[in-house]
Amino acid sequence: MAPVTPDELNVYASAEARFEVAALRLGLEEDIYRFLQYPSKEITVYIPVMLDSGHLQVFTGYRVLHSAVRGPGKGGIRFSPDVSLNEVRALASWMTWKCAVVNIPFGGAKGGVICDPTQLSKNELERITRRYTAELSDWLGPERDIPAPDIGTNEQTMAWVLDTYAMHVRQATTAVVTGKPLDIGGSQGRKEATGRGVLINCDKALAKLGMKRENCRVIIQGFGNVGSMAAMLMQQAGYKIIGVADIHGALLNEKGFDDIPKLIDWVYTRKKPLPEFPGGGAKMSSHQILFNPCEILVPAATENQITTENADGIDCRILCEGANGPTTSHADSIIDRKGIFVIPDILGNAGGVTVSYFEWVQDRQGFFWRESEVNERLQDVIEHAFDEIIHYAELHSVNNRTAAYMVAIDRVARVLKVRGIYA
Ligand code: NAD
Repeated sequence: MAPVTPDELNVYASAEARFEVAALRLGLEEDIYRFLQYPSKEITVYIPVMLDSGHLQVFTGYRVLHSAVRGPGKGGIRFSPDVSLNEVRALASWMTWKCAVVNIPFGGAKGGVICDPTQLSKNELERITRRYTAELSDWLGPERDIPAPDIGTNEQTMAWVLDTYAMHVRQATTAVVTGKPLDIGGSQGRKEATGRGVLINCDKALAKLGMKRENCRVIIQGFGNVGSMAAMLMQQAGYKIIGVADIHGALLNEKGFDDIPKLIDWVYTRKKPLPEFPGGGAKMSSHQILFNPCEILVPAATENQITTENADGIDCRILCEGANGPTTSHADSIIDRKGIFVIPDILGNAGGVTVSYFEWVQDRQGFFWRESEVNERLQDVIEHAFDEIIHYAELHSVNNRTAAYMVAIDRVARVLKVRGIYA
């Protein structure tokens, strides 16, 4: 097998390739195609931060608004040493298509700061977040662009964004961020939402394929917000979680993990490495575990995990993408050839943005829902989106991923046609 090329690992090229396949299949008009090919805005900010050591360091941050055609921009903020403008651009475009797949009135955006949160103190992270938000305050807002957590950021980060934004606009504007703590206008069920979306999608796939939860061995790569919540909820629902992995390594337990909350406690409260979990099973690398046989594989860590180099070794019936962009566009045809049922990222992890939308609605109403109500509405949205995509795929003889892109692009294009292009 030829080694993976830099082009294959270029996430924005992957995003463009999938857009192109779907747009051509849709017969998208040339002007609309050209318009949607480009992001609307890309902002680079240099963030001077006084470190605890007393030295000043300047960090680089980005915010990309891919599209505001269907509503304000929506998308997370990532803190990672791997952040690049190219990555943020890809993630922003995926947000546009994801929001359209679940038919919520948002466009797509994403942000990121090049930094390693594991090497920074809480005070340093607060200063980075506040200065980043201050630099972007003219571009954020409940009707402009609404951030949320992503890799390396969390509820606390969102609380700092909210507070900084509120100081700048001199208004208590809770709807400017989602994924924030309950006490300051967060939504019940948001923390679990992306993982719950994974569960709902998998349940739908099982029903479609005539499979049963109890016969499903599940492997989840990534044990952060998405992976740990998916593992917990899927285990509670009766799936057999045989593999979990994070940046430190993986554990394989063919009998199935019987207490995921204990593992969550081990990693997050006791701050111990995941592979050291007592009695956790066979240790291996988090890459290796992707190739262990299972019925459901959930990549929920980061991009470019499944490539032309390794896709042949994937041994699952269902691939439910919890992460954004875990499969390269070059590897799509290999996965298709193997007959794997793919739940593409823009559907697989859309539970998070769906409950973010509910959070925004609740903040704007000043009226908050019970958790059961949030979860019921989430289930309804994801099930409906799943049915639409699968039906569309069958009707147009395209794979699930292309179907999801086609449905999304068509929805954005319709709005664009009615609004017209201010050119
Ligand atoms: P997180 O920072 O909470 O967790 C990331 C997890 O992945 C950690 O367990 C980390 O150790 C692990 N990881 C990182 N690199 C890895 C590698 N190379 N191999 C194995 N494990 C690795 O992040 P998150 O919020 O859970 O996001 C995970 C993915 O899901 C990202 O692609 C993100 O964009 C996507 N996503 C997140 C949300 C959300 O609501 N948080 C919503 C939609 C999509």
